[in-house]
This record gives sequence, C-alpha cells and structure tokens, in this order.
Amino acid sequence: MSCSAAAGAEAAALLFRSPAPSTIAGRRRLAVSRRTPRRNLRTGVQPHQKSTPSANHHNRASIQRERAAASIDKEQQQKSEDENELLNIQLEDLVGMIQNTQKNILLLNQARLQALGRADKILKEKEALQQKINILEMKLSETGAQSVLSSEVKSDAEGLEFDVVKEENELLKDDMNFLKAKLIEITETEESLFKLEKERALLDASLRELECTFISAQSDMLKLGPLQQDAWWEKVENLEDLLDSTANQVERAALTLDVYHDFQDKVEKLKASLGATNVSKFRLYLVDILQQRVKSVEERFQACNHEMHSQIELYEHSIVEFQDTLSKLINESEKKSMEHYAEGMPSEFWSRISLLIDGWSLEKKISINDASMLREMAWKRDNCLREAYLSSRGMEERELIDNFLKMALPGTSSGLHIVHIAAEMAPVAKVGGLADVISGLGKALQKKGHLVEIILPKYDCMQHNQINNLKVLDVVVKSYFEGNMFANKIWTGTVEGLPVYFIEPQHPGKFFWRAQYYGEHDDFKRFSYFSRVALELLYQSGKKVDIIHCHDWQTAFVAPLYWDVYANLGFNSARICFTCHNFEYQGVAPAQDLAYCGLDVDHLDRPDRMRDNSHGRINVVKGAIVYSNIVTTVSPTYAQEVRSEGGRGLQDTLKVHSKKFVGILNGIDTDTWNPSTDRFLKVQYSANDLYGKSANKAALRKQLKLSSTHASQPLVGCITRLVPQKGVHLIRHAIYKTAELGGQFVLLGSSPVQHIQREFDGIADQFQNNNNIRLLLKYDDALSHMIFAASDMFIIPSMFEPCGLTQMISMRYGSVPVVRRTGGLNDSVFDFDDETIPMELRNGFTFLKADEQGFDSALERAFNYYHRKPEVWKQLVQKDMKIDFSWDTSASQYEEIYQRAAARARAAA
Ligand code: ADP
Repeated sequence: MSCSAAAGAEAAALLFRSPAPSTIAGRRRLAVSRRTPRRNLRTGVQPHQKSTPSANHHNRASIQRERAAASIDKEQQQKSEDENELLNIQLEDLVGMIQNTQKNILLLNQARLQALGRADKILKEKEALQQKINILEMKLSETGAQSVLSSEVKSDAEGLEFDVVKEENELLKDDMNFLKAKLIEITETEESLFKLEKERALLDASLRELECTFISAQSDMLKLGPLQQDAWWEKVENLEDLLDSTANQVERAALTLDVYHDFQDKVEKLKASLGATNVSKFRLYLVDILQQRVKSVEERFQACNHEMHSQIELYEHSIVEFQDTLSKLINESEKKSMEHYAEGMPSEFWSRISLLIDGWSLEKKISINDASMLREMAWKRDNCLREAYLSSRGMEERELIDNFLKMALPGTSSGLHIVHIAAEMAPVAKVGGLADVISGLGKALQKKGHLVEIILPKYDCMQHNQINNLKVLDVVVKSYFEGNMFANKIWTGTVEGLPVYFIEPQHPGKFFWRAQYYGEHDDFKRFSYFSRVALELLYQSGKKVDIIHCHDWQTAFVAPLYWDVYANLGFNSARICFTCHNFEYQGVAPAQDLAYCGLDVDHLDRPDRMRDNSHGRINVVKGAIVYSNIVTTVSPTYAQEVRSEGGRGLQDTLKVHSKKFVGILNGIDTDTWNPSTDRFLKVQYSANDLYGKSANKAALRKQLKLSSTHASQPLVGCITRLVPQKGVHLIRHAIYKTAELGGQFVLLGSSPVQHIQREFDGIADQFQNNNNIRLLLKYDDALSHMIFAASDMFIIPSMFEPCGLTQMISMRYGSVPVVRRTGGLNDSVFDFDDETIPMELRNGFTFLKADEQGFDSALERAFNYYHRKPEVWKQLVQKDMKIDFSWDTSASQYEEIYQRAAARARAAA
C-alpha cells in the first residue's frame, strides 16, 4: 500500500477509534454516529432509529406542540420545572457531544498534519525521481554522442560489430522516447499534486472555520435560551456538511497519491532494466575501442617525440652556424649598402640638400660663392656631401653648415642648372597640360643629371598634401611692384622629387589667395608680379643659372624683365627659354600695365618688341618670343600651324624669330600614367595582361550606374576642358553618335565658359536616366584615371591642339584614340587604315574635316574593328600600350637646345 492511501485510512480509523476497512465507508459511518446522540437529546427516540432531516423537523414540531399543551396545563409551574430539568440534561449531553467533536477535530487535525508531512515526503521523492530521470536522459544523450564518435572510430574498425551496437543504440533510443513520455506523465502528476496542495489549503481553512464555529457554539450554548435552539441546530448541521466535504477532499488526495506511486514504481523498474542492459554494454564496447585508440596514439606520440628531439638537436646546431653566417653577411651588406647608397640616393634627397644650401645662402648664413660650390656638389650627387649630411643628422644647423663648408671644393659641371618659372605644376597645382609638362620635363631633365628647380606661386588652393617637407625660409625677398617694394615669403618643398620654391606675396592684393588659379580680373597684375619676384629670388640667391625656362603668358614677363632689368644688374649668366603651350592665350593688356612690374613701357611698346600685332595694346607672349633665346611650342605640327593662321596674330613675329623657334612634342609622365602601378585603378594591368582593363570597365560601369548587360559593349571616353578649341560641338555630337552605334559614353570635363557649361548641364540632365551615357561636369583627377583605364576608345575632336596629352595617356591605358588630325594629335596618332603610314606606327583613327561627317567616319571605323575584328582590335590595344610616350625623347631635345644656348652664353662671357 502506498503511503498516501495509508494516511487516508489512518485518519478515518482515528475518528472511529476502530479499524476501518475502507475510508469512504468509514467516513459515512462517522456522519451517522454523530447524528444519533442528537436525536436522543431532542426526542428521546430509540438510538437505533434512523435519523433524517425531515424526521428532525418533525421532532422539533412535536416538542413545540408539547410545549403548547404544557402551557394550557394549569400546573404550569410544575411543568416548567420539569422542562428546565430536561433542558439541563440536554445541555449536558450537548456539551459532551461538543467535547467529542472537539476531540474528533483534534484527531482530524493530526491526520491532516500527517497527510501534509507525507505529501512533503512525496514531493521530495518526486524531486529525487526527477533527478534520476534527468541523469538517465543525460546518459542516453551521451550514449547518442558516443554512438557518433563510435561511427567515426568504426570507419576504420570492424564494421560488423558496429551494426550490433547500432541496433542496441536504436533500442536505447526507444527507451529514451518511452522515458520522455513518462516524464510528460510526471509533469501531469505534478499538476495533480499542485491541485492537491490547493485542496489541502482549502481543507485547512475549512477546519479552522470549523474550530471557530465550535468555539462560538460553546459560548452560544451557555447563553442560549430555549427559543434560540433551532438556530443552534442549523449551525451544527452546517458543521456536519463542512466535515463531509473535507472528508471527500482527503479521499481524492489519497487517490491521486496512489496513482503517483504506481508511476514511481514503473520508472524504477525501467531504470533498472536500462542500466542493466544497453548502456553498460555499449559503454564497455566504446571504452574498449577508445582505449585501443589512445594506446596507438601514445605509441605514435612517443615515436614523434623521439624524432623531434633529434631534429631539435640538429636545428640548434644549424642555428649556431646560421648566426655566424648571418653576422658575416650583415657586415658585408652594411659595407655594400653604404657604397650603393652613395650611388642610389633618390632625387628627393639631393633636392632637399640643394634647397638647404639655397636657404642658407638667402639667409646669409653662407656666402654666394660657397653656396654655388655646394650646390654644384649636390647637383653632381657628391658622395662626400652625402656623407657629411648623413653624419651630421641631429646636429645643430651651424655644425652642419661647417661640415658642408669643409666639403666645398671648386669644380666644374657638364650639367645645366635649369630653373622653370611656371604657373602650374602637376600634381600640386594643375589646370591642364602645362602642369604635366613642368613635372614631366623637370623629372626627365633631372634624371639626365641636370640641376632642375621650379618656382611657383604659393596658391591657397593648391594640393598642399602633394608637397614634401614644406617650410618657410627665414628670409623675406623684397620685390618691386607699382612703384613700391613688397615683401614675399619664400617657401620650399619637394614635389615629385623636384626642389620647388613657392612665392607668397605680402601684397595687399592677396594675389594668390583667390581659391582658383586663373580667371581673376587682375590676372595680368598677379602674374606680372609673380614673374618679377621669381627673378628677384634668383638674383638675390646669387645663383649662376644656365637656363631660365618660362611658360605661357603668365610667366612670359620673365624674358623682357631678365634682359631689360636684371641683366643690367649683372645677373646675366642665364639664357631664357620660353615655351608657348597654346597661342590662344597671349596676355594682351593696355601698354601701361607693363609698368606694374617695372618694365619700361616706352621702350617695349613698339611693333618689333611687345606691341600686339593687331591691337594697339601690348602682348606678353610676343614680348617673350622677342626677348627669349629659345622659343618652343609643344609639337612640330603645331609649330607649323602657328606660323600661319594658328599663330593667332603672332605668325609674323614667329617668322621673324623662326631661327630660335622649334616645336618639341611633349611626353607624358610615365610614372604617374602607368596602368600597372596606378593606385586609382580597381585592378592594375599591362599590355600582356588585359584582364584588369575589363575589370576596370566593369567597375566604372558600376560606379557610374551604367548598364553592364553587355560586357563587350564599347565604352567611349572623353576627358577635357570644355572650350571651343576642344571641338565642343563635335563632343556633343559624339554623345548621340555613340548612342546610335550602340556604345556607351562617359564625358569628364568642365568649362570656364558659362554658356558651354550650361549647355552641357542640359545634356547631362537629358541623359540622367540613360544607362549608356554619363556626363560628369567637373574636374576629378582620380576619376580621370579610371575613365582612361575603362574606356575602349577615346575621342579628341579638337579644332586645334598644340600637343594634347590625353591621346598619349589613353593609348598607354589601352584606349584607342579617335582624333582630329591637328597639332600634336597629328604628331602622335596615326590612322589604322592609312596605308601611306607604316603599319607599326598606325595606332588610332583620325579625321581631318572638323565636321560631323568627318568624326562619324572615324568613329564608325573604330566600332567596326571593335565588333567585327576583336583579335585585330586587341593587337591594336596592346600595340598602343607599348608605345614609348615618356619624356625621355622630348627631354633630350630640350637638353640639346639648352646646351647650345648655354654654350653661346659661355662664349659670350
Ligand atoms: P589642355 O589643353 O587642357 O592642356 P591637354 O590634353 O594638354 O589639354 O592636357 C589636359 C590634362 O588635363 C590631361 O592630363 C587631362 O587628363 C587633364 N584633364 C582635363 N580635364 C580634366 C578633368 N575634368 N578632370 C581631370 N583631369 C582633366
């Protein structure tokens, strides 16, 4: 028997003070036995008579009737005494009964407490059981994991045995599922227990109510008069009902506990069978296999360990040998690197030394002669000077100067000291091709062993991050302008390895604080001022310069200033070279404006000097042609063109000075424009590996949201200033023509001419949602690199083109040029179908007539080759990429004319 059932029976037995066969029957008898003495009290009916509620009622009525009859009786007094006696007897009985009930309640309470204790015990047992089940589940899941492990182990062990284990495992799984189902049952039992707990609480409350009712009944009884007895009986009946319901609740709780204990038995049995069979057998098997494995691993480990120890010994030995060799090698390599360093020091290093020397000279820390000797040593990349500099690092400036002066030895040089005075230099201050020429030619000349320096305005808007070691000198160079002397700060720094001076005027006009390079109302003033300070700087530095090279109208003032002002001051060692990059821009102004920078207007405003050939004004480019020793332009064809119409009025002057006039084709800076190293590209590539080219095309299409549906759809590029010279109307036409031919078009450009910019803004809007055309009306260096790399063709339909750089850049990036045959384009692009030209030179598509038909014929031919002869096209692309457009050849030509001019100067000295 379960302990819950025992608790129920015990409670019943205590109430009857005799053993009870069944709890329910026992409790019914309890109710009957309680009613029996009550009937005896009120009616005197035989105790064995059956009592019912209606019978009770009837008895109470007959008592009342007796009382009524007694009242009629004349011997009322006697009767009343009898009645009192009866009442006293009844009260005594009642008290006895209450005492019995109290005892019963106490017993019931004790039974309840025992039941509670047992319920707690049951709960604890249930918890313990739950834990056992959990452990059992864990074991089962371990068995599952071990089965996985076992399957791995088994792969290289006996297959047959494993099948048996598998079967056992299946059985285990079934058992586990069964256990899970049982667990659910336990959870349900838990819920029943919870209900039982609630019922027990109710029972508790009822018993407390019962006790209270009895206590109040006791006191009521003492006060009760005969008339109140009916109400009292009602209370007794309520009490009986309460006891009944309590007994029912106890009975239900006992039944639930019985069910729970049955379940517990089942779980115990299950656990025992499970532990006895599958788990232990399977575990033993696994342990056996694992032990075998561990043993073999241990054996292998010991073998490896032995091997490793002998290897370590060998290794330690070779380390000692290696260290010896290494220290020998280090010593030798240190020696060699010192020698190599002397030869291979970068231009940047020598440029810095030369700027240092110039700074000391200008700051009057060393004499002009010493500076000139040291400069020459730097220029010749003298090893002694290098060592003096390297060994003086960290020393005071004075010590460094002394060390340098010790090195200063007189010497001669076959190289030239060349100073470029310009308004632009790539990449620090770039507007167009001029900037590329200054750094490209400068670097090429430097490589050839010449001392090259650059003087630039210090623009507020320049790319300061492109300057290395920018610093202001502790000197102020005063320069003449408009009848006054103005101070100028001199900054130095290196750009692309070239030494550069930046002039910062302290003039109230804030000439280079305009947030743009050109296009100011006082450009003539700004650049005449700059030209004067540049010469003043050279003059004050005491340098013996061989060539002063000025460029375009902005620094064309240098030529007349040099010969009319500075040569008179004894600064006359140099020869002036003037390069006109574009005869469109000549610097024409009222004659008196020449006077700002100290030029003599009366002396220069003459037809054979600076007066413009068609207006009565002065022309700065004309002045430079007249006053320079060498005049160049940027391509041979353009040099021819400007001798006629292309000279924009200066053709006659050029004819007069034709002996000193030459056209030299520009090169491109092949370091900057190199697809195999270009950091702006998504993928670098070369002629022998064109994969990167298509990758860049795909990247640009994505970046500009162009269609990528047809990878082979040709992409036409155009990067230009949008000015009439560049054939703006043909560029516009090219957009529509490309669309018509089924290609894609990307334009990168901006215009200083308002109506052109507006027109292109309109076209850009029109194609905004077209996924084959994109117009980007801005200046963007990085994007220009991407477009060169991504495009298949590149259009340059210029009306005239002094040289043009973009056709060379595009070819280097494998984009075939489609150009008008003019100026430098005619010197660098040769039609693929022109049989009068050797095949190896043919590299693009050209047209002559500056109209739409001319352009269309060239573009259509290009498209035809691209689509119909992809192999021929690929060869063309590869050939274009291999053409040498470096500055080497051009720089050699400049070198030659410089040398001739310098030789004449020496002869004249
Ligand atoms: P220009 O007559 O302008 O000097 P060039 O062909 O000689 O023409 O040189 C133009 C140079 O300026 C090239 O290096 C070209 O890539 C660059 N360039 C022109 N327009 C832009 C632009 N919008 N964004 C970036 N680079 C440009």
